[in-house]
Amino acid sequence: MVISARSEQWSFGNVDTLINMSRTEVSRMKPPLVPFATLIGRELRNEKVEKPFVKFGQAALAKKGEDYFLIKPDCERVPGNPATSFSVFAIFDGHNGISAAIFAKENLLANILSAIPQGANREEWLQALPRALVAGFVKTDIEFQQKGETSGTTVTFVVIDGWTVTVASVGDSRCILDTQGGIVSLLTVDHRLEENVEERERVTASGGEVGRLNVFGGNEVGPLRCWPGGLCLSRSIGDTDVGEFIVPIPHVKQVKLSNAGGRLIIASDGIWDTLSSDVAAKSCRGLPADLAAKLVVKEALRSRGLKDDTTCLVVDIIPSDMPVLPSTPMKKQNVLSSLFFGKRTLNSTNKTTSKLSAVGVVEELFEEGSAILAERLGKDFPMDTSSGIFKCAVCQVDQPPAEGLTLNSGPFFSPASKPWEGPFLCTNCRKKKDAMEGKRTSKPTVIT
Ligand SMILES: [Zn+2]
Repeated sequence: MVISARSEQWSFGNVDTLINMSRTEVSRMKPPLVPFATLIGRELRNEKVEKPFVKFGQAALAKKGEDYFLIKPDCERVPGNPATSFSVFAIFDGHNGISAAIFAKENLLANILSAIPQGANREEWLQALPRALVAGFVKTDIEFQQKGETSGTTVTFVVIDGWTVTVASVGDSRCILDTQGGIVSLLTVDHRLEENVEERERVTASGGEVGRLNVFGGNEVGPLRCWPGGLCLSRSIGDTDVGEFIVPIPHVKQVKLSNAGGRLIIASDGIWDTLSSDVAAKSCRGLPADLAAKLVVKEALRSRGLKDDTTCLVVDIIPSDMPVLPSTPMKKQNVLSSLFFGKRTLNSTNKTTSKLSAVGVVEELFEEGSAILAERLGKDFPMDTSSGIFKCAVCQVDQPPAEGLTLNSGPFFSPASKPWEGPFLCTNCRKKKDAMEGKRTSKPTVIT
């Protein structure tokens, strides 16, 4: 900074004055030669101004021991190149056992990354990410099913690259965003049958039965569940025994923060059953991420004790290496945000979208929550047909097209179903797609 100020003095200074100056004075004013290492250092610092710091903290208390989390702050798009770094934070809230949560924690990231085309630059990589998340979730679910285990898990999976945050979720673990000015917004959608009418309709249409538990001579108790199985969630990874209409297709939302940054709070339902998004965000403002995570868990336990596994990750995306996200909440906007985000029953994502864009806090890049695979994978999937071998858009397996499902392969389907408009799927993933849509594999879906 000092050096460039001196340069300006030279260019705008009075030449006569300079001539009259003594030699020593001039040499003192002359910009000194900048060592190469300093220049490199300055370059790196400039890059850091563009790329935010990511600081995080985690806190958890176990009741059943079925919550798992993943923190990977040092991933690289191009292995070995730190300039291509991104971070991953995820929560897996298991049910009916822990194997699905552990399996997803260990395999999901690799499955997502394998679905991103090789050699993509940063922009292409971020654009491909929402589709890769869908492919990775479905692939992980198929692989877990093949193990023959019956447990299930929610997944809230967050990828941070620069100021761009991409969140994919199934189930009811949530990710909220607290931005400068006190705007709190939900980046996930709760896939709970009780609170999501669209999901109830989808599950019913695909062959599931939705109802409450019957006890005490026919009295209905508890939240809406899916039968057989009695699961309260409409989407998850695992749950092989419940039915294929409990799909692993995630809701995906991608936003770009302003360079003022923001704070993410990712937590299992042990937090959200007790705290609203607003209360959770407010309770820890002004604290560094590690303390903030502890405080949110403490706050959730204060009112009703430890009723469920309670896990919280706090991630600050901040413009400089400061310990705490500056907190400047504005009262007016707080009132506004509580109107839109105070309840956990928010299913309509349009409100979130218009709200966030309207206040200019973040830039909305992508949002899609459909449970139909064709709508999520798109038609314009990159495909190399020269070899006569197609790569499956979900599991990346190579297969001759005759064995799988290709674009516009309408004749393979019963007249009642729409022709497939998605990319190539292998035999295995095609079976999965049919099963998720309620077309049982035992039913004749192929007409020859
Ligand atoms: Zn496949």
